[in-house]
Amino acid sequence: MRKKLALLALSLSLISLNGITPVSPAAAAPRGGARRVTILRSCRYSGGPRRRRSTVYAYAATVEAKAVIEKILEHTGIARNFEVEAADVDNAEAGVDGNNRPYIWYNRDFMDRIVRAARTDWARTSILAHEIAHLLMNHTFTETEPSHTLELQADRYSGHILRMMGASPAEAQAAVAADASKDGSDSHPPKQLRLAAIREGWDAADAKLRNLVAAMSGRPAPRQTTGQPPTAQSPRPSEETHHPAPQPSRPEQGIRPVAPQSDRRTFRISAGNTARHVGQNWWVWTVFLSAPEEALARIRCVEYTLHPTFRPNVVSVCDRGTGPAFGLTRKGWGTFGVGVRVITKDNRVISLSHDLRFK
Ligand SMILES: [Zn+2]
Repeated sequence: MRKKLALLALSLSLISLNGITPVSPAAAAPRGGARRVTILRSCRYSGGPRRRRSTVYAYAATVEAKAVIEKILEHTGIARNFEVEAADVDNAEAGVDGNNRPYIWYNRDFMDRIVRAARTDWARTSILAHEIAHLLMNHTFTETEPSHTLELQADRYSGHILRMMGASPAEAQAAVAADASKDGSDSHPPKQLRLAAIREGWDAADAKLRNLVAAMSGRPAPRQTTGQPPTAQSPRPSEETHHPAPQPSRPEQGIRPVAPQSDRRTFRISAGNTARHVGQNWWVWTVFLSAPEEALARIRCVEYTLHPTFRPNVVSVCDRGTGPAFGLTRKGWGTFGVGVRVITKDNRVISLSHDLRFK
């Protein structure tokens, strides 16, 4: 007990020390207990390229941040295998230190600013969940990794975990909504794609929770819904009917444009492919989207998931192009099922699949 109290006192004194020193990330002086840390490689939560070997000051994480991290990990069911520290970094970073040990570093002032701007504590949780995702998925932060794809994977995971923890879609998206750049950068996708990825993760977790609740109650899974976000901090069966029902994956699906009312129409949308034999059992093939022009005009990007032997195997096409719509061309010898995620301009995600055919 005495030890606990001592720990608490230590934490409180760190907080008050940190609280009175305004910190500008670039010119931060070492704070009490600060240590010099070499960051070998890392990626930032938003803005700026990946970090290469550089040195920062790091100091103990706040009790608050540690508690959030433990809560996130509770929902993943795995033990923490990384360290977390406050540091004079720009925002938040996941990466490895000079000894190749995985770390999350975050800037306290940035975190507090985002929580204020987003007007919800969930912003802190979602930023840390995003960084944890990079570590759990073993992203290595090297130049050869497709940066945008990995950022969206981390965003999707944060949406998933925040739904499990009881956040509404808006709460899960609050940090990216407040902080991400509209147009994105070389390292980070545009804000709308990041918001869509978070929503997709949230929807997937929501569907699983509702199926679970239905299985436990012996009733079919409740369908949506009022669009009213839940406010409780943890999912309960009684809340489940308040969440929008996500669309299951199907080979073909309709896009129903939303308002204006007079414009409500349903389009059929599917994926197809062309293939050309180029000798010795090798084929050049193009997978594409098939839909009326009016529907294609509503699509922002199409993300294709290829066989894992392709590098990268998740590729986003955000250009309609002049040939087959949102076409992606590759060369190979085998057929396989291509995952196709269609992201609309109003940030809905439609999942399709297509079996490649060579003939
Ligand atoms: Zn990231």
